[in-house]
Formats: sequence, C-alpha cells, structure tokens
Amino acid sequence: MTVTDVAIVGVGKIARDQHVPAIEASGDFRLAATVSRSGGVDGVDNFATLDALLAARPDIPAISFCNPPQVRYAGARAALEAGRHVMLEKPPGASLSEVHDLAALAEARGLTLQATWHSRHAASVAAAKAFLAGRRIRLVRIDWKEDVRVWHPGQQWIWQAGGLGVFDPAINAFSILTEILPVPVHVTAAELRFPVNCETPIAAEVEMAGPRGERVLAALDFLHEGDPMWRQVVETDAGTLTLDQGGAIMSVDGGAQQGEAWSAPGIEGEYPSLYARFAELLAARTCEVDLRPMVLVADAFTLGRRVDAPAFVDPALAGDR
Ligand code: NAP
Repeated sequence: MTVTDVAIVGVGKIARDQHVPAIEASGDFRLAATVSRSGGVDGVDNFATLDALLAARPDIPAISFCNPPQVRYAGARAALEAGRHVMLEKPPGASLSEVHDLAALAEARGLTLQATWHSRHAASVAAAKAFLAGRRIRLVRIDWKEDVRVWHPGQQWIWQAGGLGVFDPAINAFSILTEILPVPVHVTAAELRFPVNCETPIAAEVEMAGPRGERVLAALDFLHEGDPMWRQVVETDAGTLTLDQGGAIMSVDGGAQQGEAWSAPGIEGEYPSLYARFAELLAARTCEVDLRPMVLVADAFTLGRRVDAPAFVDPALAGDR
C-alpha cells in the first residue's frame, strides 16, 4: 500500500481533535508537515507560511486545509498551482465563486480537490439515504442547536463576515439533507437573527421546498444550553425517519435505534472515513466538489430577512474587551 505524505494548514481545534488522529490511524497517509503560526504538532516539521512549505517540501503531494474559510482560498489556489492535491474542511470556502475557481483549476491541472462534508460520513447517513430512496418526502424538520460558548469558545472568525455564525454547524445539517433526500430542495424563506455587535447570525429559521410539495423547516440556534440537538426528522408516505446526533443514529417510526451512538457528543469515525475517501480520489485522480449545502446557506443569506438580536459576548474573550 502506498503511503501519501500530507501537510495540514491551520493547527486548531478540528486539526488537533480529528485530522491529526485520523491521519495517524490511517494506512494511506503520513503527517509530513504543518503550516502553523502557533507551533504545529510536536515532532512534525512546521512552517510559518504555506509559501515556505511549498518551496521547501516539493515532496509533499497533498495538503489539507483546516483553517477558517475566510483565509482558505489564496492558500488552496497556491497549493494547486504548485501541483499539490487539496482537501478542504467544510465549508469549502468563504464564497461559492472562489470554490468554483479552485475546482476549475484542479480539473485543469488533473489534481484532486476534495471539498469535505464530514457529517455525510456519520454512521447512519448511508442507511438513511437507502431508507428514503423511492419514498415520497412530505416534511423534514431540522433542529440544529448547540451552545456556541461550549463548542466554539474564542473563535472570533465565526462572528466575522464569511464565518457563517450559526450556519457553520448548520451547514452540516444541510450536507446530510442534500445527501439523503431523493429530491432537490431550494430555499423559499429565512429569518436570520444577527447580534447587533456581530457580522453573522446567532440563530435562524430556514424554509425550503421541493418540486412536488416537499417541505423542509430548519430551526438553528447557537445559544442552546445543555446537550446539543443535531436532529432531522423526515416524514414520508411510508414511515418517519429520525436521524439524530448529527447523523450517528437513526430510527424509523420511533422504533429501535440503529447506528453508533456517541459515547460523548462528537464526530467519531467521520474523519477516518474522510481520509479514506481522499485516498480513493487521489488514486482515481478525480475531484469531489458538491456545493449544494453551501448553495442552501448562500440562498438563506440572500433571501433571509435580517432581524437584530441582543449583543453576544463570548465568555472566552470577555476579558479581552
Ligand atoms: P480554529 O481552531 O478557530 O482555527 C483553526 C486554525 O486555523 C487556528 O488554530 C490557526 O492555526 C488557523 N487560523 C485561525 N485564524 C486564522 C487566520 N485569521 N488566518 C490564518 N490562519 C488562521 O477553528 P476550527 O474549529 O479548527 O475550524 C476550522 C475549520 O474546521 C472551519 O471551517 C470549521 O467549520 C471546520 N470544522 C470545525 C469543527 C469544530 O468542531 N471546531 C468541526 C468540523 C469542522 P495556526 O495557529 O496553526 O496557524
């Protein structure tokens, strides 16, 4: 089996929690370097800038971008121009047009670009898709609610334009939705609540419709205390599917649960599967760039009615203000 050297750009929460362990456990990849302003990973060659890595390490064929979406495009473009394959964390960029540009460049150079959606790799997503295939969808209710103070402490980028606010987690719901539904859906209305001191929404309601009267109602909340709620319930002409814990477990008509429940809320198992998929794409020299989840988010911003909400002060940063 060939082992491919990969470098990580941006060694923050998701890189440390998921990418580094997934690469270490993978038979397909080896973590050969990092690009980090804060030191990187112990024992791994670190560069202060991507340009420095690209110049010094032409032997590293693949680069995984784990930095915030607003700062990803220039680096991803530079990596592709330098002939490297690229994996992008979700959301794949700050705008649809920049990701289209990256996809076109990767295609033109015969390189792999993988725009990842980790939630699609949750344990019960494939089974949910199989259950819904051929069924008539009536109504999908999405509840995607978590406490930003617990899950994203100190992450200022999430409150800056392009950081998506509550849509940063909710795009995971939309990635599952677009994977499992047998019909396309489009946004018809939205209400987005922006704290008066933030550039992105802290809560939202989004309505969608399908071509034959299918409806989707999504309630998103970043101030939800206690256990997170990452659930979608799909009513069909032949049973109701509940996909819970971010796609980890499912049940039909309230029956027995299938899938792997978390020992603690998290995204266990998804990242090893993402890297296995990256290896397949590299072997096939193809790209995987499905922008449907990002289109739904962009449309919610385009159509959405904007409502003021009380100022949000991140307790992790309260001392800095
Ligand atoms: P994070 O910890 O706040 O930041 C990631 C790292 O990116 C930082 O540690 C820093 O790395 C680098 N970085 C941050 N701001 C930067 C800037 N302005 N310019 C250049 N580099 C910057 O964020 P995260 O939670 O890991 O999220 C990163 C991406 O992963 C996001 O797109 C997010 O949606 C996605 N994601 C996050 C989670 C989660 O649970 N947190 C789950 C799935 C996916 P260095 O100090 O090494 O330079």
